[in-house]
Amino acid sequence: MIGSRLLLFPLLLISLAGLALSQDPLVNSNVRPRPLILQPATELQKLDNEEVELRCTSWRVAVEANNLGPWKTIPEECVGYVRDYMNGKGYSSDLETVSNEAGSYARSVELSGDGKDVWIFDIDDTLLSNVPYYREHSYGLEIFDQVEFDKWVDKAMAPAIEASLKLYEEVIGLGFKVFLLTGRGEKKRSVTEENLVNAGFRVWDRLILRASEDHGKMATAYKSEKRSEMVKEGYRILGNSGDQWSDLLGSAMSFRSFKLPNPMYYIP
Ligand SMILES: [Mg+2]
Repeated sequence: MIGSRLLLFPLLLISLAGLALSQDPLVNSNVRPRPLILQPATELQKLDNEEVELRCTSWRVAVEANNLGPWKTIPEECVGYVRDYMNGKGYSSDLETVSNEAGSYARSVELSGDGKDVWIFDIDDTLLSNVPYYREHSYGLEIFDQVEFDKWVDKAMAPAIEASLKLYEEVIGLGFKVFLLTGRGEKKRSVTEENLVNAGFRVWDRLILRASEDHGKMATAYKSEKRSEMVKEGYRILGNSGDQWSDLLGSAMSFRSFKLPNPMYYIP
């Protein structure tokens, strides 16, 4: 009888220690009561990867749904995830979905015929892809560097986002006026025009860049002001495509807005 009590005491200590360990989520999966089966290292690695994939997917969905507060860099653990998303089928499939939906809406609109029906496009990562730049800058893990980014813009080498080029051509064909509204400054007008034409965007009705008095304005405020000016001129903004919520929200919003995916950076 005494012997069995002596045996119970160390067992109780072991189970209490196990309970304490189980409070730590990182070791939790290894201390749950279950048959003791040794998992191969590769399987444990796979579980970790699945966990990262799951968490980074949730983070990306929160980005796209505009549920996150202003953020400066992507989560460190998500660099590989964002790289794979941007270079794999996910990004292009998401872009095509947005473009197709926007196209079917554009076709459904009855235009007035007075030349006042407008579709607005943002430029960076909406018409032109900066993925080649971000490939060299950890897909948004590095804090944004304006000087380095300007060097990239000056090369005028950004390729077209093909799904957006298709939509662009379609809305022009349907008779929309196309206004390009970008956060780039006036100093970048000629390289921007050069890049657009090289990438296949050959015609537009307006190209609006930040004038000197617009510098320092938040993107949402600047773009809202520009849209308000269009409305005052009698234009009807029927469609707006942008990779940032700040391209789309604010005042004088478009009748329909189309948010392109972008998990690499956030512009307020
Ligand atoms: Mg953009």
